[in-house]
Amino acid sequence: MMHYSEQEWMKYVKNELDKDVREEYENHLYSCDQCLESYLMAVEAEEAELPMISNEADFTTLVMAQIADVKRETAQKSLIGKKKKSIYQSSFFHYSIAAAVTILLMTTGVFQSITQYAENVQNPNLQEEPSMTQGLVDKTFAWMDSLEGKTKEVDK
Ligand SMILES: [Zn+2]
Repeated sequence: MMHYSEQEWMKYVKNELDKDVREEYENHLYSCDQCLESYLMAVEAEEAELPMISNEADFTTLVMAQIADVKRETAQKSLIGKKKKSIYQSSFFHYSIAAAVTILLMTTGVFQSITQYAENVQNPNLQEEPSMTQGLVDKTFAWMDSLEGKTKEVDK
């Protein structure tokens, strides 16, 4: 299988790719653990250019608020029939994924609140077909679960 380099993922994170190429990346990311890791590394590198997190609790609240905003925006746009802007085009989305991974690794309590929150935010009336975004989020959580499993095995 052909893989993308971290530099290539960096371009993806920075939204420097054409739409077609972008879709190829997304499709590949969905089915490749190796590239998911490269992607997360790229997000981490990009993260250095974003504001520092001074307070984790405040940051979590901020992430939740941003997710809610995006969901609401997406819902409104699909209701009025406009083509929705891909959530991938927001660098904040990438940052959120990386942050979610980091936070999960620090505390499962936060993870539970994120899943609960996600359930609350999802409104069945506004659901479209399972989106790429949802697929990626599912995959990220599955990936994190497997990481957690590996850690537990080491503990034994
Ligand atoms: Zn790959």
